[in-house]
Amino acid sequence: DEDLFAEPPTKIPNISSEHSKIVASHYNNLQEKGLYERSKSNIFYMRNFNNWIKSMLINEYLTKIKDNAPHGAPLRVLDMCCGKGGDLLKWEKGSITHLICTDIADVSVEQCQKRYATMAERAQNGRNKFQKMFSAEFFASDCTRNRIREQFKDVSIKLNLVSCQFSFHYCFESLKQAECMIRNAAECLAEGGFFIGTIPDANEIIRRQRESGLTSFGNDVYKISFLCDSKCPPLFGAKYNFQLEGVVDCPEFLVHFPMLIKLARKFGLEFVMKERFEDFYKKNLDQGKGLLERMNALETYPSHHNSNNGGNENYSHVAKKFDRNTKCGTVSKSEWEAISLYLVFAFRKMKTEWDD
Ligand code: SAM
Repeated sequence: DEDLFAEPPTKIPNISSEHSKIVASHYNNLQEKGLYERSKSNIFYMRNFNNWIKSMLINEYLTKIKDNAPHGAPLRVLDMCCGKGGDLLKWEKGSITHLICTDIADVSVEQCQKRYATMAERAQNGRNKFQKMFSAEFFASDCTRNRIREQFKDVSIKLNLVSCQFSFHYCFESLKQAECMIRNAAECLAEGGFFIGTIPDANEIIRRQRESGLTSFGNDVYKISFLCDSKCPPLFGAKYNFQLEGVVDCPEFLVHFPMLIKLARKFGLEFVMKERFEDFYKKNLDQGKGLLERMNALETYPSHHNSNNGGNENYSHVAKKFDRNTKCGTVSKSEWEAISLYLVFAFRKMKTEWDD
């Protein structure tokens, strides 16, 4: 990739804990919308698509881990920046053994814990009594400032997977915070374990900014406003405001990927892959088409699903949208422009001195 960042490294800005407070309060105050509200949203299909990307990524790496482990070995995961627990079902489907959930937004962590409790209860009362629900622990923490391992129930636990979805970019506020977050991911992983995630593609953001020639650009779904020098963004603290239709309105930071690779290596993580969403999608389409269709269909027709509204609403607007295009390509052009801002990544924990 062409590197559009400032070279050599420019000044490292002052660290402000103010930013973390803004992020935490933003996510804490996000309302859990019911199915009906979600279905009316302009990013209805984008949300499904992003969930599908996460499912495919998580499945790919859980499979790699299972393939290399003895049969019946425990499968332990850290969901770093778990939010309200949007990936809990994915962990259940992946048959993991133990999950550690943490996020800076304490209200979100509470909601995540409640969601887990509901799932565990359902699993216990369900038909498949033999499939054991994974155990889990929850705590609120700023992963860019605290050593989160110290908050684990068992501080010496070794994990197989660390997942950080749509969140890692917050740590690129400063070198210190980036190092803290990466060390958090790296130090609890067993050798051969993976660190996976999804982040905005900084090069694509800069490319679009240059194409527009404006400090603010986007479409009816997303808007990015640069809050730093867009001509020569710093390696850390390259701040911009990101707005996404009714969901996000928050300052974020560009992640300079070559820098991430270097820092990860410092903490014993070897670069495995980085792929733009559109390429990852193409690569996984054959295998995951059915899942994406089911995700869209399940969300579309409330009879299949627990609706918060008793299933009485008129879903015709969604059904129409769905019927017009029953293939995977149900996302609108604006949604696709927002989706294609992102990339998936994976790192692998190497053999390191401090393992012994
Ligand atoms: N991972 C979840 C998902 O995919 O549904 C939530 C993603 S949400 C877009 C970003 C999350 O990152 C929010 O829940 C936010 O509170 C969390 N976050 C932001 N900065 C954080 C930090 N410094 N430490 C821990 N969590 C943070």
